[in-house]
Amino acid sequence: MSKSYDVVVIGAGPAGYIAAIRAAQHGMTVACIDEWKNFDGKNAFGGTCLNAGCIPSKALLESSELYHRAEHEFKKHGITTGDIGIDVAAMQKRRASIVRQLTGGIAGLFKANKVDGLVGHGKLLAGKKVEFTPVDGDVETIDATHVILASGSAPIELGVAPFDGENIIDSWNALELDAVPQRLGVIGAGVIGLELGSVWARLGAEVTVIEAMDDFLFMADRDVARVAAKDFRKQGLDIKLGARMTSAKVGKKGVTVDYEDKSGAQSIEVDKLIVAVGRRPFTDGLLAEDSGIALDERGFIIVDDECRTRVKGVYAIGDCVRGPMLAHKASEEGVMAADLIAGELAEVNYNVIPSVIYTAPEIAWVGKTEAEVQASGRPYKTGSFPFAANGRAKALEQVSGMVKIIAAEDDDEILGVHIVGPMAGELISEAVLALEFSASTEDLQRTIHAHPSLAEAVHEAALAADRRALNYINK
Ligand code: FAD
Ligand code: NAD
Repeated sequence: MSKSYDVVVIGAGPAGYIAAIRAAQHGMTVACIDEWKNFDGKNAFGGTCLNAGCIPSKALLESSELYHRAEHEFKKHGITTGDIGIDVAAMQKRRASIVRQLTGGIAGLFKANKVDGLVGHGKLLAGKKVEFTPVDGDVETIDATHVILASGSAPIELGVAPFDGENIIDSWNALELDAVPQRLGVIGAGVIGLELGSVWARLGAEVTVIEAMDDFLFMADRDVARVAAKDFRKQGLDIKLGARMTSAKVGKKGVTVDYEDKSGAQSIEVDKLIVAVGRRPFTDGLLAEDSGIALDERGFIIVDDECRTRVKGVYAIGDCVRGPMLAHKASEEGVMAADLIAGELAEVNYNVIPSVIYTAPEIAWVGKTEAEVQASGRPYKTGSFPFAANGRAKALEQVSGMVKIIAAEDDDEILGVHIVGPMAGELISEAVLALEFSASTEDLQRTIHAHPSLAEAVHEAALAADRRALNYINK
């Protein structure tokens, strides 16, 4: 007799594993199938985020940031050290151990919530049946009342620079380098390019970033992008804008990267080249021809606002569907899908998804940029407050950047919050809550913020929107 479940989830990344746990919490029988295999040959739950994305990148960002601060800031604090060195093997061991603890934690959560974590490949057949090919054992067909597809994404490969895993590499390989490359090239000044470029630059690599767009961080608010570009260049990242790679060839001396910019054809030599030009939805081997699921022209599984596919009872969530490719968006879609299956009302507020880039300074925003508000035609006001005037930032020796709040002129509703500076990724949560509750700048102005704290910069930016900043001269 074939197995049957109320819910079968394919994919155990932040979309799938969260959906599986939430569905089990509703009292349903749940299986979650995942085939992820790490470079050590071991299978692990957690998908891209835990194994090759969010978590390992943040582990390395922290290590490299500490190294950089020890080299450049300790003296100012009066701390003397001997020669500072970096043991890449030890740094990578820490990264791998964090990943292992967290991915192992999912296996534990599955057990505690009575989710059957099945290791192997899942394929959606017609009639909500799922073909499961285990890593060990025979293929079986599982009956499901509901299926949630959460197969994630994969790096985009460029025809002019195919990955070879050694010299021309994707973000996963770049997280597992065992030595600091002397010269590192990065194609794409997006989130991955900046985060991973920062890691290796702080550890001593000469980093050149080649970006096709003329505007730096085109999706961010212009004021924030300006501060960030200046800081990254000061840190030694050589960011070339309006530059399009034409070829990358591996030779004896490394990789020769040809590109074109406003001045014509250019060329650089690097030891490693990271290609980080975006990710594509991953649905290879996921759908039987007669599964009934439709993909759009870019390969995303077509879903409605509630993540329902064209097939009744089949949902799709996370990176394999439209919207930003972010772990927290993926997880919230997982919660929504499980709640809807359980018969509850649920929704994701796609207008209020925070973005964070974990560089130094960090960059974070939620809601609309000033250009977007301007384009909407709604009269608005802005308030900014620099971290240079914030006591906690001074104590931290991290004074670069600011908080900028954009609010409606008529009813004071906060429309967007943009932060570049220390702990921006933590500070943005207050702004997310504010937007979720349709708060006004007055709400933030009248909220008590602890002193001294970085969050006071958010408070002061809200005051500045009405020219009432107290610790800065209002302009
Ligand atoms: P994934 O995490 O990709 O998981 C999909 C899972 O499904 C995988 O385990 C895959 O093996 C499995 N799978 C696919 N098909 C099948 C099948 N047919 N059968 C069985 N299993 C299958 N986002 C953030 O929000 N914050 C960050 O700081 C951040 N940092 C990142 C850093 C890097 C370097 C990268 C690459 C990404 C980063 N992201 C970050 C993006 C984040 O990782 C993704 O948005 C998130 O992982 C998407 O979750 P998901 O569950 O949809 O897909
Ligand atoms: P991205 O979309 O953030 O950036 C890709 C960049 O490459 C863009 O700036 C684009 O203009 C540029 N580009 C594209 N083609 C090019 C070419 N031929 N030559 C030069 N430049 C080119 O993509 P990414 O950095 O690869 O990240 C992929 C996804 O992973 C993103 O959607 C992001 O949301 C997610 N991610 C998030 C985080 C985070 O939340 N902190 C961290 C890493 C990754």
